[in-house]
Amino acid sequence: KKLGIALVGLGSYSTGLLAPALQKTEHCYLAGIVTGTPAKADTWSKKYYISKSNIYNYDNFDSIKDNPAIDIIYVVLPIAMHKEFTIRAAKAGKHVICEKPMALNAAECAEMIAACTAAGKMLSIGYRLHFEPHNQEIMRIGQKQVYGKIKSLDTGNGYVWGGPPTWRLKKDMAGGGGLMDMGVYSIQASRYTVGQEPLYVTAREEKTNSDLFKEVDETVYWELEFPGGLKTTGRSSYNKSWGYLKAAAEKGEFGLEPAFGYGPIHGYTPDGKMDFPQVFHQVHQMDDFAQCVMLKRPTRVPGEEGMKDMKVIDAIYRSIASGKREKV
Ligand code: NAD
Repeated sequence: KKLGIALVGLGSYSTGLLAPALQKTEHCYLAGIVTGTPAKADTWSKKYYISKSNIYNYDNFDSIKDNPAIDIIYVVLPIAMHKEFTIRAAKAGKHVICEKPMALNAAECAEMIAACTAAGKMLSIGYRLHFEPHNQEIMRIGQKQVYGKIKSLDTGNGYVWGGPPTWRLKKDMAGGGGLMDMGVYSIQASRYTVGQEPLYVTAREEKTNSDLFKEVDETVYWELEFPGGLKTTGRSSYNKSWGYLKAAAEKGEFGLEPAFGYGPIHGYTPDGKMDFPQVFHQVHQMDDFAQCVMLKRPTRVPGEEGMKDMKVIDAIYRSIASGKREKV
């Protein structure tokens, strides 16, 4: 049996990556859509053979509870809408995947987790790199200390904003800028390589274009302090092209570059270049979640994982504002 997924929000990620991935998944398929644009409903239903009874808009969305063809709702909306639609999905009795970053802040994440728990439904965050072999190897090497203890780690993620302003540059819709959108990957990667939770952060912001980035952060630099004293550095940007992780351990260096894009991903260790297949991340991510639902097995990337990153992001914003070291 294949589980039915409904995508909520048919923007660039749904169109370019998730819908194509759902043509290749084995355990789930694109059964429904939720969109505010009738023209998109028309195009999508023809292109992907979606039945009219599985098409919803944001107003009639709650009636999806009566539709047994939809098992999982995938929230692919601007960040400020993640909480509302995750909670509405759970109340409609559906399992949920919510895109990254999970919400505007950690307090919202807690509400989303509570709603899914109360409904007895599973919640997963769109952390596709947990299903990508090179990132999985970095997790293994770091957490098992294959090359000894990590002595330093630096990671960055960012791109140069090209297009016109969108919701991503509006504080009320995005919560922040490069840190929310791109920095969440760097923070995730530091956490999954070290295998521990940071206790303190110190951060600063750099702004070179205060017209474009009037409401949100452009470039942010931070330091995380882990238990035992390890300090790692990270950076995010809407004005610098970054996508790497590099770590120095007792017995040599390892890392990824490009680290976080849709691929290809490349990695190295003291033993040489990593040799793993390039995979369609989203196919593996959604198939894994569908199997978790069917087998009642916990997901590797639950809401709690999204909330841990949001706690770090909240502390980074506090540190930028206070100019001081802040507790996570
Ligand atoms: P997008 O701007 O391309 O699409 C957003 C969609 O939301 C559009 O279809 C838009 O019509 C709809 N929408 C509904 N109400 C809206 C409103 N009030 N204002 C603006 N749009 C509204 O964005 P996207 O790039 O598809 O990103 C959506 C989510 O997916 C974000 O959370 C983003 O971080 C995440 N994302 C994740 C990855 C990944 O690799 N995991 C990649 C890209 C985006």
